[in-house]
Amino acid sequence: MNTYKIGNQTVDSVELKCLLVSRGVKCDKTVYRRFGGEYRLNVNPLTCNCLILPDGTICQMTDVGFHLQYLNGALSWDNLKLLRYASELGTPFSVKLADGKAALFYEKEFVDFVTFPPYTDFYKRRTSGGLPFAGNAVLQGLDWVAFQCLWHCEFAAAGKPCEFCFSGAEFEANAKRGKAQPQAVSASDVAEITRCAFEQTSASSIQITGGSTFDGETESRHIRAYLRALADVPRSGELLLYITPPSDTSLIDEYFALGASRIACSLEVWDAETARKVTPGKMDFTTRERHLRQLEYIAGRHGAGKAFSNFIIGLEPLETLKQGASYLAERGIIPTASVWMPMGRPVRGSMKAPGVDFYRAAKEMFAELYSRHKLDPAGACGLNVCVERDIFTRCCGAADTEC
Ligand code: SF4
Repeated sequence: MNTYKIGNQTVDSVELKCLLVSRGVKCDKTVYRRFGGEYRLNVNPLTCNCLILPDGTICQMTDVGFHLQYLNGALSWDNLKLLRYASELGTPFSVKLADGKAALFYEKEFVDFVTFPPYTDFYKRRTSGGLPFAGNAVLQGLDWVAFQCLWHCEFAAAGKPCEFCFSGAEFEANAKRGKAQPQAVSASDVAEITRCAFEQTSASSIQITGGSTFDGETESRHIRAYLRALADVPRSGELLLYITPPSDTSLIDEYFALGASRIACSLEVWDAETARKVTPGKMDFTTRERHLRQLEYIAGRHGAGKAFSNFIIGLEPLETLKQGASYLAERGIIPTASVWMPMGRPVRGSMKAPGVDFYRAAKEMFAELYSRHKLDPAGACGLNVCVERDIFTRCCGAADTEC
C-alpha cells in the first residue's frame, strides 16, 4: 500500500482516505475546468465526486464550500446553526493543478498526483418517466451505482432522525412544516437508471437503500418491486440491500430469493448510550435486540458474510466500536465501516472528526477481524466513503483483487 507525507506524519492510503472523507477537500476551479470534460468531476455535490489515489484507492471528495451552498439551498438549513459550527469546517486538503495534472495538497505541501473516474453523462440524464438521475442515484468509485434513499424514513418524519443523516434531516423538516414527503422512486425508474449505469459506465454492482419504516410490510412492498424489476437487468456484480430489520424473517428469505447478494441491518453505533442519542429511531422503534436477532438469523440461515452492519467511524470511542465489530464478526456478520462526514451536520454538538491515530487503530482492528473470521466485505475496487473493502484489499492479503 502506498504511503504519503501529511505534515510530520506518514499515512497509508486507507488512513489518508479517512482523513480526506472526514475533512473534505477544496477543489480548485481550474481542476474542475481542466478535467470536468474528460473525467467524472462536477461542481454539483449531487454527483458525489471521488478522487483516486495512485494505488487505486477511491476517496469521496466533498468540496466543503460547494457542499454548504447545497445544504443551504436544498435542505433549508438554519444558517445560524451552520455559522455556529463554521470554525470547524476548514479543510487542510486541496486539489490543484501541478504540472498540468491534478495533485493533492496538504496545507501547502504536495502529497501526490490523483485522478478521477472517466467522464459519463449519467448525471445529465432522466428516465423515460422524467426522473432526473442526479439526486436519486450516485456512481461510487468505478463499480457501484447506489440509491441513497428510495423511500422516505418514517423514523425521521416522527422526529427521531439519526443525527448524522442528511436525508433524515430533510424528512424531519418536511414533517415539521407539514410538507408531503417525496414519493418513493418507482421500480421501473430504478431499473432504468441501473441499466444505464451498467451499460454506460464500468459499474456492475448496486446498493438499494431507503428510510426506516415502522412496519416491515411497508418497506417490503418497495423492495419486492425493486428486486423484481432489477431481475431483468443483467448484472455481473453484487446487489446490497439495506433494510429495517423486520419482525418477520420470511421477508429476509424472500429478498435473498429475489436476488439480494447480502443484506444489511445497520446499527451505525455500538455504544448504547451514544446510540440512543445519535440513532434514536433505530433504538426506540426497531431496537438493538431486533437488529442483532435478524443479523444473526441471516448469518445462520444464509451463511457467513451474507449479513453486514455498518458502523460510522468517528462517532464513538474505539473501545466500544471494537466491542460491536467483534460481536458481529464472531457470528459471521461483516462489520462494515463508513467514515463520518461531519461537514454541515453536527453530531452531539460537534463536527470535529477524529485524528489519524484513531483511524489507524480502527483500520487495524477491522483488518484483524476480517482475517480471523474469514470475512470478505463487498466493495470490489472500493466505495467512496466506506473503507471496509479498502482495509480488506490492502491489509488482509487480498491484493489479487483486479482493480
Ligand atoms: S433510520 Fe436511516 S434514513 Fe432514517 S434517519 Fe437514520 S440513517 Fe437516516
